[in-house]
Amino acid sequence: MDLELLDQTLADRDEPRFRARQVWTWAARGARGYEQMTDLPASLREALARELPFSSLTLQAEAQASDGTVKALFATADGRPLEAVLMRYRDGRRSLCLSSQSGCALTCTFCATGRMPFARNLSASEIVDQALHFRRAEAARGGRRDAGGAKAPRGREGTAGPAAITHCAFMGMGEPMLNLDNVLGACERLPDIGIGHRRTTISTVGWIPGIERLAEEQMPLRLALSLHAADEALRSELMPVNERFPLRDVIDACRAFHARKRRRVFVEYVMLAGVNDRYEQALALARALSSGPTGGRSRGGQPAFKVNLIPYNPTDSPYTGSTREAIASFRGALEAHGVPCTVRLTRGREIDAACGQLAARAS
Ligand code: SAH
Repeated sequence: MDLELLDQTLADRDEPRFRARQVWTWAARGARGYEQMTDLPASLREALARELPFSSLTLQAEAQASDGTVKALFATADGRPLEAVLMRYRDGRRSLCLSSQSGCALTCTFCATGRMPFARNLSASEIVDQALHFRRAEAARGGRRDAGGAKAPRGREGTAGPAAITHCAFMGMGEPMLNLDNVLGACERLPDIGIGHRRTTISTVGWIPGIERLAEEQMPLRLALSLHAADEALRSELMPVNERFPLRDVIDACRAFHARKRRRVFVEYVMLAGVNDRYEQALALARALSSGPTGGRSRGGQPAFKVNLIPYNPTDSPYTGSTREAIASFRGALEAHGVPCTVRLTRGREIDAACGQLAARAS
């Protein structure tokens, strides 16, 4: 829902100020429309239904994979495409992948979004509406278990009942640091939906001004860096933005973030066969992440970085994903050199869940 327009609509009607909060609280708990907001006067509910679309996004298509991953393709009111993904895990975690822009102005060569035209930044409301879509869907799904969905019991971070969404990452379309005001505006709202700041990750290509701003930000948000190569020339080939913000400076900015926030930075590394998955490249990555005055560790001894190896989700690109064996040995080499490392589970492959794939297909 367009929250600015909500304020405006309520002000135009001389409604008391607490009404906006009431409407938002219902929406954040998974209400499906104004008609469910029973503590609002009926006339106001009808007026809102007439004047203010319940969501700023229209669902265009939705695909569900057998592992429970759901991918949604939306359009904004001016017809711009964007996507969001919900991943459900066996341990009860539910994690969202949100878009910050429609399309992307950066041109990473392996990424489907990078080959779409950039449309525009999403507003904070358009970002929040992606999360609300899944909040409603999960409330409806869990309705049998948690007493009516919209009335799901709420508690502290991550304890909002079985239908709660617990985590989110800005790993959908777009570069969140190039739309940071709206991304942070959306982040302020997410705890009401059940997603705490400590469980919210902002992923960047390494846009240094954004990393610096996030280091000064009050909200304890997580930072993830899409690195993909520890060598300047190869990284520039994969991610042209490296010409503007070279790897070395980006890693320094992430170290400063870690020193300031005491929060470990996730390094994303998409595994491309024969391109960035060789043993020497793992050693170079370990060196890049552990060099520096304190050997890559904070004074408390915790490593500043944790690497997340990402199996490549094939798109219409010249790349193929590394084999499982290559990923395992790359991980072994990193760990042998003291760099903590995990391999990301592949989710939703049969529904084209990788960044930009659904929108690219629909366009
Ligand atoms: N612009 C931000 C956020 C969007 S991309 C960033 O680059 O971090 C989120 C992550 O998905 C990035 O690490 C990106 O490199 C990765 N990614 C993009 N396309 C992919 C694909 N086809 N398979 C696997 N990961 C992909």
